Amino acid sequence: MSAALPQKPPGRTQPAKGSKGSGAGAAGTATLASNFLRTIIAEDNRSGKYGGRVVTRFPPEPNGYLHYGHAKSIILNFGLAAENRGQCNLRFDDTNPANEDVEFESSIAEAVRWLGFDWGTHRYHASDYYDQLYEFAEWFIEHDLAYVDSSTAAEMRALRGTLTEAGTPSRYRSRGVAENLDLFRRMKAGEFPDGAHVLRLKIDLAGPNINMRDPAIYRIRHASHHRTGDKWCIYPLYDYTHCISDALERITHSICTLEFQDHRPLYDWVLARLAEGGKLPQPLPQQYEFARLNLTHVVLSKRKLIELVEHQDVDGWDDPRMPTLVGARRRGFTPEGFRLFAERIGVSKSDSWIDLSLLEDCMREDLNARAQRRMAVLDPVKLVIDNYPAGQEESCFAPNHPQRPELDKRALPFSRELWIERDDYQEDAPPGYFRLTPGAEVRLRFAYIVRCVGADRDANGNIVAVHCTYDPETRSGTPGADARKVRGNIHWLSAVHAVRAEVRLYDRLFLVPFPGMRRPPGTAADGVVAAEAVAHKTVVAGDDEDDDSVEVAERSWLDDLNPDSKRVITAYVEPSLGRAEPGESFQFERHGYFVADLREHAPGKPVYNRTVTLKDSWAQR
Ligand code: ATP
Ligand code: MG
Repeated sequence: MSAALPQKPPGRTQPAKGSKGSGAGAAGTATLASNFLRTIIAEDNRSGKYGGRVVTRFPPEPNGYLHYGHAKSIILNFGLAAENRGQCNLRFDDTNPANEDVEFESSIAEAVRWLGFDWGTHRYHASDYYDQLYEFAEWFIEHDLAYVDSSTAAEMRALRGTLTEAGTPSRYRSRGVAENLDLFRRMKAGEFPDGAHVLRLKIDLAGPNINMRDPAIYRIRHASHHRTGDKWCIYPLYDYTHCISDALERITHSICTLEFQDHRPLYDWVLARLAEGGKLPQPLPQQYEFARLNLTHVVLSKRKLIELVEHQDVDGWDDPRMPTLVGARRRGFTPEGFRLFAERIGVSKSDSWIDLSLLEDCMREDLNARAQRRMAVLDPVKLVIDNYPAGQEESCFAPNHPQRPELDKRALPFSRELWIERDDYQEDAPPGYFRLTPGAEVRLRFAYIVRCVGADRDANGNIVAVHCTYDPETRSGTPGADARKVRGNIHWLSAVHAVRAEVRLYDRLFLVPFPGMRRPPGTAADGVVAAEAVAHKTVVAGDDEDDDSVEVAERSWLDDLNPDSKRVITAYVEPSLGRAEPGESFQFERHGYFVADLREHAPGKPVYNRTVTLKDSWAQR
């Protein structure tokens, strides 16, 4: 049974169609901690503000692949809806005709489903509302709440004012309603080139919030849209579109990231005016902001991810090292691991950095609970059992999961010549080395105790085979087998039975927590970050360096790429691993968690990707 199958998310969420699983994952038992959004929703349910309805939405722009940060937003929005027996809409925010694509839409939808969520019939597009958005724009014009501005972009910038100075009205601000309406209709009819005019709301040029200084809500773009084709040559802007889309879908809690905080007054203004005019029903949606996910040792900006792909620093969008959800899937990260992570980091209203090891720990925890155990020898050397008859074979039995006896045992062929790890033998072993060294005894896991007698070397002094003798009375599982205590316990594979596999040892893509920077962006020189970040084991770059002279901008983030983030080796694995399905995850004992590659693994040609090591090897660096 694959460990990568989606399982039941925490709370009352219904798993997406087609998902199955035993429910034994770590995320299945996560308890729901209180956070400010859960508190608000509980209060709204108690007061009956929305009649008990909870409707959220996830609003991606279909212009790229989703990344780990989006997973936080998806889990938050779909999770809150599910916990409250509510609904979460998948809405493609397709207001920019230039760089959007249906291909991105299907990949986004698939990622949401992979994370274990289902939007049911509630899949929408901002472009579904273009007619209504246009009608509302005319309504704003008719009520002298919007005007067509024919200033150039530079003129508009000059008049906008600054954080400390009020804006200045453009000479078009006083245009009459009829002229505005006529111009706007002609904009729509395609009479003007791009940039000739914009439609602006008439709000407040003097206020401190730049977003309220007569924001543009429509611009001319002679461009085909992937859904509406050439029907429109004017397109509504994000701030105007988003709030109205929320209201039309009767969203109750519109949850977005902190950078939209200053846009909230505009969100509220647009909806309040339309509601007063009887254009939108009450109660209106309410926007709430949470801190986006900032993760160390990766980059989450779309622009940087595109650069990695285009520079071929990685093998495409779904490279297992990429922090995309398609990459995560090939890496062997699990939806349950992401949900556990989201629950652990919680949601807050202040920016913080999360150490990547927290995400890796969640994946370990989930895989530890579910992945079956197998043996694999990554750096093989022969072990010859001198007193075991040549040609003889027997089966040893190994549990598939140490804590889950119901998963049964599997037979492992045992014979005279085995593969073991090269570093499980050492001729001049230091004190405390409990593996193979001349004269020492170890247990071959699930098999016999052997005594090491030495090793053969080639002309260059390289070890080509280790020799030992076995004690037939010590077979695991037979009475008295455990009477003799040995301290070492090593894994092995029968050389004639083992199969060769390509194994990709993936590691972190970046060597430093904040690629291109010595400390988190926006952090004071003393390296202080939000207290919360510290609670999440966040590292602060520069803590151990007192030289602050190197400026942030001097480094390219690409210089911090880890040159050893991918190492491809040929290993030996148990025969059953040769037959596994793509996407199946296993623990290779003593090594880590590995997944059969979704794209290149095939029966008879096994390819495994390392998901994570058993322990965090970055902790001591
Ligand atoms: P851009 O807007 O630059 O194209 P984006 O990453 O914001 O990039 P969207 O498609 O707009 O992409 O994002 C969809 C949703 O995911 C938004 O609600 C956004 O706030 C949320 N989101 C994006 N990045 C993160 C992050 N790092 N942490 C949490 N939520 C995020
Ligand atoms: Mg965005």
